[in-house]
Amino acid sequence: MPAGDPPLTLKDLGGIKVAELAGVGERTANGLLALEIFTVLDLLSHYPRRYLDRTRQAQIGELLSGDEATVLGTVRSSYSRKLRGRRTLTQIVIGDGTGKLTLVFFNQQWRARQLTEGMDVLVHGKFERYRGTSQMTSPVVDLLGTQTGRIIPVYPQSDKTGLTTYKLAQLVEEALKRSRARGFADPVPPEVLDRFKFVDRETALHGIHCPETMEQLQQARRRLVFDELFRVQLELVRRKRAVEMQTSGISHDTSAGLVDRFHARLPFALTGAQQRVNEEIARDLSLNYPMHRLLQGDVGSGKTLVAATALLTAVQGGYQGALMAPTEVLAEQHCVALRDMLSGLSVPDPASLMGQRPLRVELLTGTLRAAERRKVLADLADRRVDIVIGTHALIQAGVQYQSLGLVVIDEQHRFGVEQRAALRDKGESASVPDVLVMTATPIPRTAAMTVYGDLDVSVLDEMPPGRSPIITSWAEGPMAQGAVWDTVRAEVADGRQAYVVCPVIEESAVIDVSSVEDTFVELHDGELSGLRVGLLHGRVSPAEKEATMAQFRSGSIDVLVATTVIEVGVDVPNATVMVIFDADRFGIAQLHQLRGRVGRGQHQGRCFLLGEPSTKVGRARLEALVESTDGFELAEVDLELRGEGTIMGERQKGRNDLRLASLRRDKEWVELARSSAVEILAEDPELTDCPELKEEVDFMLGDDEAEFLMKS
Ligand code: ADP
Ligand code: MG
Repeated sequence: MPAGDPPLTLKDLGGIKVAELAGVGERTANGLLALEIFTVLDLLSHYPRRYLDRTRQAQIGELLSGDEATVLGTVRSSYSRKLRGRRTLTQIVIGDGTGKLTLVFFNQQWRARQLTEGMDVLVHGKFERYRGTSQMTSPVVDLLGTQTGRIIPVYPQSDKTGLTTYKLAQLVEEALKRSRARGFADPVPPEVLDRFKFVDRETALHGIHCPETMEQLQQARRRLVFDELFRVQLELVRRKRAVEMQTSGISHDTSAGLVDRFHARLPFALTGAQQRVNEEIARDLSLNYPMHRLLQGDVGSGKTLVAATALLTAVQGGYQGALMAPTEVLAEQHCVALRDMLSGLSVPDPASLMGQRPLRVELLTGTLRAAERRKVLADLADRRVDIVIGTHALIQAGVQYQSLGLVVIDEQHRFGVEQRAALRDKGESASVPDVLVMTATPIPRTAAMTVYGDLDVSVLDEMPPGRSPIITSWAEGPMAQGAVWDTVRAEVADGRQAYVVCPVIEESAVIDVSSVEDTFVELHDGELSGLRVGLLHGRVSPAEKEATMAQFRSGSIDVLVATTVIEVGVDVPNATVMVIFDADRFGIAQLHQLRGRVGRGQHQGRCFLLGEPSTKVGRARLEALVESTDGFELAEVDLELRGEGTIMGERQKGRNDLRLASLRRDKEWVELARSSAVEILAEDPELTDCPELKEEVDFMLGDDEAEFLMKS
């Protein structure tokens, strides 16, 4: 890297093999390979896992039995001996001036060779006093070698790779030293750097790897976190803009009075959140590029009303609307709800004497008779149907609209890229219908911004008044479970209904069915004998399923034993109790979604979670559900418990650019990165004025990566 050349870009660093660095022999190279460090860029973005502030370490002399602690000490002696049963015991004694600590290892004789007298080591583990000796059994050990300085980086490593944190630190220092002549390019625009008072990239890379003070470290971290998030947001927003500019949409008429008439006739006032979201959607609909918006709202937050408002906005300007549900049962349910909500409204009709005809909402599903179906299709093609409800079949070939203006999709995860493409052919001439995707599975806003960054997000974060939250209890043990069935019988005696949910066992559809069937038989002949108990699972035919649902809806079944087929959207207001077997097998979001099926009417809803989770996280999940009924709060807890890896994993399975940034800890930076990206791209949609930045984004988020980000 001769001086005189321009400063190093990330792409340059990505082109230099780590093997070129001094001190990389075969053993080190293999270790680096195991850590997936191939280039200098990989090395420099292999950030320390934690830092050791030498002045603030636990002192051996002050530790109490049971403490979880990190101790810095010097190896004083080591000792190995054979135990019975071919086991070996290795003991290493370290000291720090305040006391001595014995590290105990079983079957790790190599530790005696690894930890030799005089060496500085950092150990982390549980401190115990055992027969008068202070000890830690199988601690995590980091070798510090000759690292000096007050703050020492501790790198992610594994004993298997044979690479110590000390070796890694050396290599990083070497890489930074060799880069010094050229320096690092800093493609982030100066205005942005100024606004957030960021240190430059060179300072940041030094500060994250070799900080001299904690303050330097913090400054470095915030800069590098921002860079990661900023790149992702630039890519997402740029793609979104490009799609918007390439396709022309419909500029809907948001002033006409159909929506106002609809709202005026409602028996209740809109919630503040509904008003706000309606305005957000109306603004999108009035623009002449296609809307692509995600509506998040907890179960019962009133999404249907928002969907109806959007559909009427399309209709009042002379367009048609389609509402797409994940299943036929749900489509039918939506149809009943919308017809009810919109009854009495009329639309202009040049063909009629009064110039008006009733607004028409039709269902288009596989259960229609052939003649009915032909009629609906013909009327859609002539715009004698204003709103059509169905499943994916709505956008398939063979369904012709006169002027499809808006598609509302209930439950985003079943709507993929192909469907989105199919929409393009349904619009009027060259314009693409607007799309509103609704989901009752909230994800935290910042995660949504990253995971669904190509969608705009609206949130219904306020429940309609007068709903009492579902009471959730966790029934552990036979006594508590007995009480659960008492409650179910009491509710049924009061004329209410109940759901009993059994988990799906993924590996085997057969076991799954037999487990729900066993439960059904057990309850039917046992705790719930005398009640009318129905059974529903994924293997019954659609007709049978519909018949069972109809019986449950009409009240001729008291208790429905089911798998999660009832998860989405089933709406039986008379159902007040839900019992969930093996609740620890479900995720937080799913449990929350499930319990949302009860307490939809005027009676108090109750949910009982059965299950004995074997892990701490499992217990924490169930406790969270007992404590909170707020879907967004639960989504935060979920993110906390699972880590964002899983959330990102839902959409993005490729290389992940977020190495340092955390969607949990760095929430405000997600927002700031988003707004900075929006601002820059508003002026310069293709980043033509910032070629270095464009190159960096393209390089770091190669096409594959970006594709992942864009998929829904
Ligand atoms: P979601 O689809 O978000 O789960 P729904 O749209 O089914 O919720 O609404 C749940 C219930 O709340 C429905 O019975 C609906 O009529 C009612 N509702 C919706 N908005 C309001 C409001 N602003 N005030 C009172 N009740 C409302
Ligand atoms: Mg529009």
